[in-house]
Amino acid sequence: MATDQDLRRVLLRIDGKGYKAYQDLRGRYEFPGFTLFIDRVQGDPFAPPSRLRVRVPLELAGFPRELFGNKSREVALRDFLTREFDRWTRKFSSRRGTGKSGLIAVDPCYQQILEKSSVLLADEWVEARLVVGLPAAGRRVLGREALSLLTEALPQIVERALHYRNLDPEALRRHVETAEDADAAREQLASLGLIAFVADGAVLPRRSGVDDRPLSPGEGAVPFQAPDSLRVELKLPHRGRVTGMGIPEGITLIVGGGYHGKSTLLQALERGIYNHVPGDGRELVVTHPDAVKIRAEDGRRVEKVNISPFIGDLPGGRSTRAFSTENASGSTSQAANIVEALETGAKVLLMDEDTSATNFLIRDHRMQELIAKEHEPITPLLDKVRSLYRDFGVSTVLVMGGSGDYFDVADTVIAMIEFLPHDVTARAKEIARAYRTARRPEGGERFGEVTPRVPLPESLDPSRGRRDVKLKVRDTDEFVFGTEEVDLSAVEQIVHPSQVRAIAEAMVYAKRQYMDGRRTLREVLEGVMRDLDTRGLDVLTGTGSPRGDLARFRRHELAAAINRLRTLKVR
Ligand code: ADP
Ligand code: MG
Repeated sequence: MATDQDLRRVLLRIDGKGYKAYQDLRGRYEFPGFTLFIDRVQGDPFAPPSRLRVRVPLELAGFPRELFGNKSREVALRDFLTREFDRWTRKFSSRRGTGKSGLIAVDPCYQQILEKSSVLLADEWVEARLVVGLPAAGRRVLGREALSLLTEALPQIVERALHYRNLDPEALRRHVETAEDADAAREQLASLGLIAFVADGAVLPRRSGVDDRPLSPGEGAVPFQAPDSLRVELKLPHRGRVTGMGIPEGITLIVGGGYHGKSTLLQALERGIYNHVPGDGRELVVTHPDAVKIRAEDGRRVEKVNISPFIGDLPGGRSTRAFSTENASGSTSQAANIVEALETGAKVLLMDEDTSATNFLIRDHRMQELIAKEHEPITPLLDKVRSLYRDFGVSTVLVMGGSGDYFDVADTVIAMIEFLPHDVTARAKEIARAYRTARRPEGGERFGEVTPRVPLPESLDPSRGRRDVKLKVRDTDEFVFGTEEVDLSAVEQIVHPSQVRAIAEAMVYAKRQYMDGRRTLREVLEGVMRDLDTRGLDVLTGTGSPRGDLARFRRHELAAAINRLRTLKVR
């Protein structure tokens, strides 16, 4: 068995040689207290950095079992350790030399506590996965620099980040308990007839559009305060009793003047599918796990989606029962986004007038008089939102400051006034009675059919040039699949680039494992998600070298990526 001494010898031997000599490092080395795996060695100093893993026996790492006794705790502990590892690698990373020389890093975490492949826990060990830029001067191996990085810095990082005795036990406990409380709160929603909960005292606004950390009270953040009539109490395993606003199933409007906090509340609900770190402000903002943000997305491609519930026959008699376009309009894209979400099993739709097509949301009486129904293919959401709930049990939360027509169809109306919610349901209903609109309902009794689609495997081609699989991910809003760019900028519940990496891999996996020209998209997604549940994210990399930069995603976001692939063909 090779040891750290062997690694040392190799590094001294290849010092000054051509960069290719680093390939000799591949393998497994026993260090005092941990095992180092060098899984993949970069081809040159500018190539993506090398992939390494360190594995510490649990006996040595010393984590009390209760810290990872169930899934939510395990995920939170792994998240905490990733953050610690990140903190310490940043301290020891010394970028000297060519290209990525001296880099030592772990895939970072942000405000959400995600299940990631950066740190794993097994029965016997804890493992952290990192990338290292093996040091070079030009194209020559800097063996001594590598020596100090791998045999001096790395053991210290492992010692500090992966040993319980060196961590802040209070912070770790808080992290784990925060996640467990959020999961418990989310699990209680259904039995209370709720689709979301926002705790009293929650801080919803963020520092900026590009900074997801909370706005501080000093900067004017107004903490959330539930209106009495919507206040509910949850009992959580750690925090005990907490109160806050429950959003009931059905149709909920968020109204209020411009700049009073409507979109901020909706965005918090969008993110309520995730658990947040202590101090985020949204620790106890939880939403139904199948809540999907819907928006207009003009320009997107649509492949044979039955949008007929919203859009009737188009000019020229073109049917919309299997509607395809290379360039959807605002309203057709929003309709397709809803129908696709229903196809993947969404139970709550979250929409904001700011990012919706106006003619998709409303068509008022005067417009009905001017443009006869036979000349308007669009049935607005207003006429479908109730049948959506009645026929499919799908609730809607809609931010709507601009039209009172929705008072007729809403179950709950929440007004945001100076960043605080008020229950104005009774008043809105009163107004709806006092000022009846002469508007005629246009949606019919039923919502209409959601037609399952069968994706054709040959239409997903991840290859490029001589490579069978070429995937490229930079950020959360697009990725390259083979030769195709997939635009995810309108898929707003993706929060981490590692989710996109995992989604891209999952598309390849789905194609190989489940798409057979017979299984529906829903069945394909279920297969993939089941495998992720039972075998973890590593299932996506198969026999490739293990990687630490994958994060869990929902079937909705995987479907969203498949649906946006411009080559997709379905039956
Ligand atoms: P609306 O959608 O009603 O027009 P926004 O939600 O966009 O309003 O909020 C307007 C501004 O107020 C944003 O800059 C947002 O960050 C800030 N804001 C929202 N909620 C709060 C709050 N609770 N406390 C302080 N500022 C807030
Ligand atoms: Mg807004």
